[in-house]
Amino acid sequence: MLSVKQVHGTEALVLDRALVSTDRFVGGWDALVTDQPGIVVAVRTADCVPVLIHDPKRHVVAAVHAGWRGAVAGIVSKTLALLESRFGSCLEHVRISIGPSAGPCCYEVDEPVLDQLCQRFPDWNKVVRTRGNGKAHLDLKALVKEQAQALGAAPKSITTVNLCTICHEDLFFSYRRERNVNGTMVSAIGLLMRRE
Ligand SMILES: [Zn+2]
Repeated sequence: MLSVKQVHGTEALVLDRALVSTDRFVGGWDALVTDQPGIVVAVRTADCVPVLIHDPKRHVVAAVHAGWRGAVAGIVSKTLALLESRFGSCLEHVRISIGPSAGPCCYEVDEPVLDQLCQRFPDWNKVVRTRGNGKAHLDLKALVKEQAQALGAAPKSITTVNLCTICHEDLFFSYRRERNVNGTMVSAIGLLMRRE
C-alpha cells in the first residue's frame, strides 16, 4: 500500500512500473495513479474529500485527496484528464467513488475561499448554500461530482457516501471538529494481481 505526503496541491504521482524495496517517494502529491496490479494507492482524510477512481477497461486506478484548495484548483479534473491522456481512459467508462467529507450541513467557508471558487468554477452557486447570517456553506462532494461530470464522467457511474465527517463524531475523525489531527480515515484502491 502506498501513501505519500499530501500538500493540498493538484499534482499526481503516477506508478506505471512495479515497486521495488528501494523506492522512496520524496515530495508531496494529492493524487496517486497506478496501472500496476498489487499496488494499493491510499489517501488520508479528516474532512477533505477522498475520491477513488477505477477504469475497468484500461485497468487503472487512482486515489485523490481533495480539500477545498485542491478541489477548487481542479485536482479531480486534472487526474481524470491524466487518465485520458496517459492511459487512454474513456471517462464514460470510469467509475468514481466520493467518500465521506465535511458536508454542506457544517462546512462553513469564508470570503477568500468563495472568491477563488467563483473565479474558477462558473457554476459555484450549485455547490454553495448561503445562510441568512451572511455565512456560506460549501458542498465539497457536490463540487467534485460536478467537475467530474463536466469532464464526461457518467452520473450513474459516480457514487457518493453522503455523510458529513464533522457531525458524525461516532464514525469519523474531523479536523474541523477536533481542531487537531487526532487521526485520519484511509481510502484506498488497487487492482487485483492477475492470475497467471
Ligand atoms: Zn454536518
